[in-house]
Amino acid sequence: MTGRVSFVGAGPGAPDLLTLRAVAVLQAADVVVWARSLVDPAILEHARPDAELIPSDDRTHEDVIEIYTRARRDSLHVARVHSGDPTVYGALHEQLAACRALDLDVEIVPGVSSVGAAAAALGQELTIPDVSQTLIYTRRPTRTSMPANEQLVELARHGTTLVLFLSVRRPRELQADLLEGGYAPDTPCAVVYRASWPDEIVIRCALQDLAAQIKDYKITTQALVLVGPALGDAACAGRSHVYDPGYGHRYRPLGRPDRYKKAARADG
Ligand code: SAH
Repeated sequence: MTGRVSFVGAGPGAPDLLTLRAVAVLQAADVVVWARSLVDPAILEHARPDAELIPSDDRTHEDVIEIYTRARRDSLHVARVHSGDPTVYGALHEQLAACRALDLDVEIVPGVSSVGAAAAALGQELTIPDVSQTLIYTRRPTRTSMPANEQLVELARHGTTLVLFLSVRRPRELQADLLEGGYAPDTPCAVVYRASWPDEIVIRCALQDLAAQIKDYKITTQALVLVGPALGDAACAGRSHVYDPGYGHRYRPLGRPDRYKKAARADG
């Protein structure tokens, strides 16, 4: 046993959106490191009573690496709990590199993303045939700069469904970039603050009102902004091919019920 670090997605907030695998890891871990800001302490109920619980929000990367170094030395299992899915804006990359340099076993346990929780709060699908079949996840630069080829104005030019993480602090600039990129002023938008938490807020508005709405609700953090025609009522006009009677596929070939049975048998 060399020591092990499991990077665990805690989901968007609601403790019952934890996966079964995440629960199993929490039950097994000797040490649980978690960020208090976006992870509900209720998830710690799954930890062993004798587990060491360490909040990470007041620690640096180096402090956390010290915990991993101790895990290597004492053959401990650490559960490092991240909000949502750990592979999206999770500061995961540098931790993985450090764990591999320490020759620790590493594992990633995927989590329910905040995007899924936001769409659920909106009661909407984010991809709609003939409206938008592409999702762009991005953010505006803060202290973290953006690669030159990923400027929001350029990404906006595609007119897809666009999801912005970490980007509500400067709402006027956000709105200006989206307009400059070519979204029409009446493009439907949504802001979801703390999706799946008891204090969740859902705002819908046109792009031209986005900055004012974010300001009015005093939302400065922990929110996603979703933009694009798929978020509007008109989007309901589209329907997906997969359940259309005029569209065949492996499990429901057009006019070939015999084939359907064969495919179902082969799979079952
Ligand atoms: N790994 C996380 C994202 C971490 S970055 C995930 O997969 O969701 C933190 C940012 O994610 C927040 O600033 C916010 O933009 C978004 N976020 C995380 N949880 C959220 C939630 N419950 N509701 C709305 N936005 C959330």
